Amino acid sequence: MININQESIAERFMRYVQVDTQSDPQSNTQPTTEKQKDLSKILLSELQQLGIEAELDTHGYVFGTIPSNSKKNIPTICFCSHVDTAPDCTGTNVKPILHKNYNGEDIVLPDDITQVLKISNTPYLKKHIGSDIITASGNTLLGADDKSGVAAIMQATEYLVKNPEIKHGEIKILFTPDEEVGKGVAALNMQKLNAKFGYTLDGGEAGSLEDETFSADGATIIIHGIIAHPGYAKNKLVNALKIAGEILTELPTTEWAPEVTDKKEGFVHPVRVEGIAEKATLEFIVRDFDNEKLKQHGERLKSIAEDVIKKHVGATMEFIIKEQYRNMKQILDKNPEVVAYAAEAITRAGLPVKTESIRGGTDGSRLSFMGLPCPNIFTGMQGIHSKLEWVGVKDMAKAAETMVHLSMIWEEKSPL
Ligand SMILES: [Zn+2]
Repeated sequence: MININQESIAERFMRYVQVDTQSDPQSNTQPTTEKQKDLSKILLSELQQLGIEAELDTHGYVFGTIPSNSKKNIPTICFCSHVDTAPDCTGTNVKPILHKNYNGEDIVLPDDITQVLKISNTPYLKKHIGSDIITASGNTLLGADDKSGVAAIMQATEYLVKNPEIKHGEIKILFTPDEEVGKGVAALNMQKLNAKFGYTLDGGEAGSLEDETFSADGATIIIHGIIAHPGYAKNKLVNALKIAGEILTELPTTEWAPEVTDKKEGFVHPVRVEGIAEKATLEFIVRDFDNEKLKQHGERLKSIAEDVIKKHVGATMEFIIKEQYRNMKQILDKNPEVVAYAAEAITRAGLPVKTESIRGGTDGSRLSFMGLPCPNIFTGMQGIHSKLEWVGVKDMAKAAETMVHLSMIWEEKSPL
């Protein structure tokens, strides 16, 4: 029986969210904002107080090692969360509110009464009637993404340290900066981490286990027109901006776009247009779960653009496809026990397992391709990147419990 103290995890979480750790997509430093280290330093010192060997490196990564207490030959696993919060919504002066024994009524956030959390548009709240939930106060996000993961990892670590009768192998703790700006593993020292398999704690509803992400490419179309003085341009000028507009108009509107696709469907999505009459650049993101289909999306985009260019004599184009990240399932399928053990741990924690695909990428998708197969486990976070963000305390506790079970399962299944 693993008994995670809910009061303690709630207190821990509420302390962490009050530290402003917003990352910055415009910054070129590593980490992108120095203030992320404010939380990293707290985590470092809390790990050390638990007697765990830990360090914070100059790039803002916290590494900790819980040594093995088993004689078995067990692969080292890693639990990982990110300390930063999304740039979409302010994270300064977060005032977490603990709603004890939630009664099912609408929650009006006191600092901005237009922010109302209600069951009618957040049905998952229903599962938390009678339990404790935590919200922000109306002016900021909460930061449950991903401080619920950070709190769960710290709580599980404390549990393992204080209950040495629970047998486990070596466990690495990793807290990363800059996940929200796509640089979460950019400067990660994999040698230093030295783990065989990983789990990010960065998911939603209790019981969810994500083992699949998009595969992602970026596509750039550069259109070269022909420039001339507009007063004397007849039969000479070819306007690149107009061609760019035409290409965008030719894109399908009822399919193949993020606004009209879901589940396993891929898409092509223009994200930026830049140019002058002589030269225009269109940038796209291309997404699919299947690498072959991803490639076809790129080819289809290219042929749409070529058909438009052909109509404008003298215009030329360049088409560039760049790999961004790949579906982690390719890697996880080679190590099926990584996901299977996580599913078993969730079951042992008394939850139904919901295996899900992420229509996006995670640090785990990048880590998987850096040699650390790494699915994503729930923490309970809801309404992320918004002022209505919230988390159920019992979900966070279940995430910590799942980690303890998972550590035990790796020990049980390993040979002497
Ligand atoms: Zn996250």
